[in-house]
Amino acid sequence: MAFIELKGLTKQFGGLTAVNEVDFEIEKGKITAIIGPNGAGKSTFFNLISGFYPPSAGSILFEGKDITRLPAHLCARLGIARTFQTTHLFERATVLDNVIVGHRLRTRSTLFDAIFRTKRERREAQAAYDKAMETLSFVGLEEIAERPVAGISQEAKKRVAIALALATDPKVIFLDEPAAGINPEETDDLATLIKKIADSGITVCTIEHKMQMIMGLADSIMVLNHGAKIAEGSPAEIQNNPVVIEAYLGG
Ligand code: ADP
Ligand code: MG
Repeated sequence: MAFIELKGLTKQFGGLTAVNEVDFEIEKGKITAIIGPNGAGKSTFFNLISGFYPPSAGSILFEGKDITRLPAHLCARLGIARTFQTTHLFERATVLDNVIVGHRLRTRSTLFDAIFRTKRERREAQAAYDKAMETLSFVGLEEIAERPVAGISQEAKKRVAIALALATDPKVIFLDEPAAGINPEETDDLATLIKKIADSGITVCTIEHKMQMIMGLADSIMVLNHGAKIAEGSPAEIQNNPVVIEAYLGG
């Protein structure tokens, strides 16, 4: 049984086919990278697997279970976490509160559920606090846990977004361009964090434009172009694949 198995995965927006009949398997415990030009359908692909959009056609199996039409908060409960290309954090709240609230919003179906306090909810709130602190320590942010997000660096914000996803104790984490907008040194640090996440037993699937980073990090790579899978393989195979080179250079 494949860990995650996608068959004929397709998403249409009106007349536009953003993801086009993609067959793909994500291997447990590995780092898989999704690459492709802008508009190739990479983020949409993540939105399908994490339940943010229902596919127009095709199927998604997670550990053998059909999750094709499962909504995002139920995907999160099953162990599928993701970050977004544009980080949406509560800028005036602290790093810690962002992780706590974000976690609760993701695993509850409504805002009401997330803030409604019963006795059980209060117990859960303590557990959420403990989990958030543990996660912030894992991503290297424990020292700025009490600082408002508005005052922290872009790179730290990326780590907060990752912490938010990790706080749900996922089996797999999908990262949408985690290294966009940060400098080379920070990119190296982020690659180290991604490796650490994978080493902790969480399967990682990441979208990235920084080729050097991906080539050193990924176990396998899938290339999307105009919504379709045009190649998959090891970093070395992808680097030398003429179809991939054409997609990037041919425009
Ligand atoms: P990538 O992440 O590879 O840059 P996207 O998945 O964001 O690509 O977008 C793929 C295509 O789907 C683009 O043409 C984009 O404009 C379109 N698209 C993405 N999301 C939506 C949406 N919610 N509604 C309509 N079109 C969308
Ligand atoms: Mg994108």
